[in-house]
Amino acid sequence: MSRLLSALIAMLMVAAITRAGAVTLVEDGAALGAIHVPADPTQQEQFAGEELQRYIEQATGARLEVAVGAPNADAPAIVVAQVDRLALVGEQATEAEQALSIEGVANRTAGNHVIVAGGGPRGVVYAAYDLLEHLGFRWYWPGETGQVTPSLADLTFEDLAVARDPSFIRRHSMGAASDGWADVAWGADVVDWLVKARQNFWLHNPPGEEYDGFLERRGGTYTKIGSGHNWQHIIPASEYFADHPEWFPMVDGKRRPEGQLCLSNPEVLQRLTDYALAGAARMAADPDVMFIDMTQNDGAGWCECPACRAIDDRDPSTHADIVLWAINQIAERVKQQYPQAVLFTFAYAGSAGLPSWITPADNVMIEQTNYCFNYGASFLNPNSGRGALYREQIDAWAPVTALHGIYEYFGFYNWLEALPVTLYRLPEEVPYYKQLGVHGFYSETEQRWSSNHLLYYAFARMWWDHETDVPAMFDEFVRLFYGPAQEPMRRFYLALETSGGPDRYWSGDVNDLPGIFPAPLRAQCRADLDEAKRLAAADPLVTARLAFVELGWRYTELHLEAMEAHEAFNRTPSAETRRAAAEAWRRYVDYFDELEGTHAFAESDLPRFRRRAESQAAVYAFDLAELPPGEFEYTDSLMSGGNAFLHGVVDAMYAGKWGLCLRPGQSGALTYEVAAEEGHSLASLRFWFHGGLVEGVSNAIEWSLDGETWEALVTDAAPTRDVEHDLSAQVAGRPRVWLRARYASTLDRDWCALYRVHLSGEVR
Ligand SMILES: [Zn+2]
Repeated sequence: MSRLLSALIAMLMVAAITRAGAVTLVEDGAALGAIHVPADPTQQEQFAGEELQRYIEQATGARLEVAVGAPNADAPAIVVAQVDRLALVGEQATEAEQALSIEGVANRTAGNHVIVAGGGPRGVVYAAYDLLEHLGFRWYWPGETGQVTPSLADLTFEDLAVARDPSFIRRHSMGAASDGWADVAWGADVVDWLVKARQNFWLHNPPGEEYDGFLERRGGTYTKIGSGHNWQHIIPASEYFADHPEWFPMVDGKRRPEGQLCLSNPEVLQRLTDYALAGAARMAADPDVMFIDMTQNDGAGWCECPACRAIDDRDPSTHADIVLWAINQIAERVKQQYPQAVLFTFAYAGSAGLPSWITPADNVMIEQTNYCFNYGASFLNPNSGRGALYREQIDAWAPVTALHGIYEYFGFYNWLEALPVTLYRLPEEVPYYKQLGVHGFYSETEQRWSSNHLLYYAFARMWWDHETDVPAMFDEFVRLFYGPAQEPMRRFYLALETSGGPDRYWSGDVNDLPGIFPAPLRAQCRADLDEAKRLAAADPLVTARLAFVELGWRYTELHLEAMEAHEAFNRTPSAETRRAAAEAWRRYVDYFDELEGTHAFAESDLPRFRRRAESQAAVYAFDLAELPPGEFEYTDSLMSGGNAFLHGVVDAMYAGKWGLCLRPGQSGALTYEVAAEEGHSLASLRFWFHGGLVEGVSNAIEWSLDGETWEALVTDAAPTRDVEHDLSAQVAGRPRVWLRARYASTLDRDWCALYRVHLSGEVR
C-alpha cells in the first residue's frame, strides 16, 4: 500500500472514530435531544439543567427540553446529576469521577450522551458552566454586556473528557459583593457572576422574596464563624474594660481598651476557648462552615505585662509566638471535643514573622496577608522591592502550616483606578501558592468593574485552575469581548499592564497614581479607546462594553489631570496655575454625576471618593489670609506637599512623597499667614504641626505678629499632633498672625520633616 493511501485510510479511520464519539443535540437550529435530570432532582441539578437550557437556546436558537429520569441509550441527551446520583440518569461514574471533591466537575461524552456531573451540589452547577464555557460562553463582568454568547447552528460534543477539582479549596474574591444592595438586581448579577467565576466563600443571598433560594440553587457558599479582627468582638472592650482592665493589653505601663488582648491571662484564654467551642459546635452541624475566626485585632497594641512578655519576647522579631501559644492551647481543647473543627488566625502586621520556637497546631489555619508589600510586580520578581520580604515570610510559614490561607488585596480601597498588573503577577504568584500547598484565598476587593474587570476575571480563573495560560486567556478576552475593536483594546490593556509592572514597586498610596498613569500613557490609551469605539460603531454590544470601560477611563483621566494641575501649581505657584488647578478639580468632581447608577464602581463607595474630591476642590476657594467671620479649621496632610504651596509659603523645602522634605544640608521653612477679612479680627487660634526630628537636624516652631520678629514655642523637638499650641490670648483682637516651622539639616541625604498640619480658631 502506498504511504499516501495508508495515511488517507488512517485519517478516515480517525474521522470515523470521531464521528462515533460525537453527540449532536442541535442541528441547523433544531433540537435533536433533551437535557435529563434525575427524577426528584436536587435544586442544583434542576438549576444546572435549566441554565444549560437557557444558554444553549441563546447560542443555537433551539430550546432543549428538560426531562427527568434516564434518557434512551440511543437518544442524544445531556444528563445532569451529582456523581453519586448518575445512576438515576442511567450512567455510571468513572473512578476519577468518584474521587472528585464536592466542587469537582466532570464533563464527558458517553455513547449518545453528554454527562454533566459534579462531586457535590456546587460541583453540578460548576459542571454546567464548564460545559457552557467549552461552547464559547464567557462572563467577563456581571450583567448582560459582560456575557460573550457563541453563535452556533449545531451543537455537537466530541470526545469530551474532563474530570477536575479546583486548584484551591477556598476562593473568595470580593468583600462587597452586594454593593450594600444599593441596587438589588445588580447585586444579584454580581453574586451570579461570582458563582460563574467559581467563587465559593462568604457569598450572600440577595435580599427580597424574589431572590429566595437564589444562592442555594447555585450550590450555596462556604462560610465561617465570626468576622475578621475578631478578638474585639469576642471580648469587646466597651463591655468588659471597665470591670476587667486586666484582660486588655498593658502598653507603656497602662492597661488600654484598644489594641490586642492580655493573652497570658487565663480568663482571656477561657473566654476565647468558650467562643471557639461554641463555634466548633455550629461547625459540626453545618458542613458549609469552614473555620472559626480567632483573628487578632487590627493595628498594634501588644500586651507588655510581665507574663505576656515572658512568652512574647522568646522571639522578639514577631508577636506570632504569643498568638500561637494561645491559639494552640485553644485548638488542643477544641480538638478533644470536635476533631474536625478548624481555628483561623492571621500572620499579619506584628505577627507576620514565623516564630523560632512554636508552630501552629494542625487544626489551626494561618492566613498571611499580602499587605502593601507590593501592588506592582509579583513577589517572585527580584525587582519587586519589598516583595522579597513577603516571599520570605510565606516560604517560612508554608512548611509548618497544615492549613495555609492567603489574604489578598485586589483593586482597591485607596482609589477607583485600575490595579493593572494581571498578566505579570498572576501567572507567577498563583502557581507558586499552589506549590506551597496553599488552601485558599480571601480578597479584600471592592467593586471596580469598569477599571478592574480583567483582574477580577483573571484571578478568579487562576484560583479555580492555577495552570490557566494567562497570555492565552488575555488573547481570548480581547478577541471574544471586543471583536472588531480587539487590536486597539489589546494595546489599551497591555499599556496599563506594562505601566503598572512588571518590575515596579508601588505601595498603593494615591500618590503612586501619577507614576502608574503618566500623561503619555494616558494619551496612548485615549487614542486606543477612541479607535476601538470607531471600529466597533456598527456593533451595539461591543459599543456598550466600550462605553462601560470609558466610564472608568474617563474618571482616571480627570482625576490624573486634577492631580497634575495641582502639581503644576506647586511647582510654579501663580494665579493662572491656581485657576487651572481649581478648574481641573471642578471637572473631576462634576464627573461623579456621570458615574451614578452605572455600576462602573461600587455605588456605595462613590460618596467617599466624591467627598475626597470635593474637599480638594474646595481648598482652591479657601484663603487662610482672608478668613470670614466664624469658626475656621484648616487641615493638611503634607503628602507630596499637600496644599502647603496653596495656603502657606514653602521656603526651600520640597514636596516629597511623605511630606515636606529637605535636601541634604538644606534649611527650609513652612510659614502660614492666618488673617481675618478686612474689618474683622482673630478671636482664637490653636494649631499643631506633626513631623519628625533626627540627629543632624534642628528645628523650631515659631509665631510672629508682624512676620519679621519671631518667638519660638518649641525648639529641637519632633512636633506632634499631641501638642496643640494655643495662641488665643496672644492673637485676640489682632488682624493677623504668622506661624512657622523652621528646619536645618546637616544630613547627607534627603529627609522628610513635616507630615501634617492643623489650625483652628475663630474670626469675629
Ligand atoms: Zn498581658
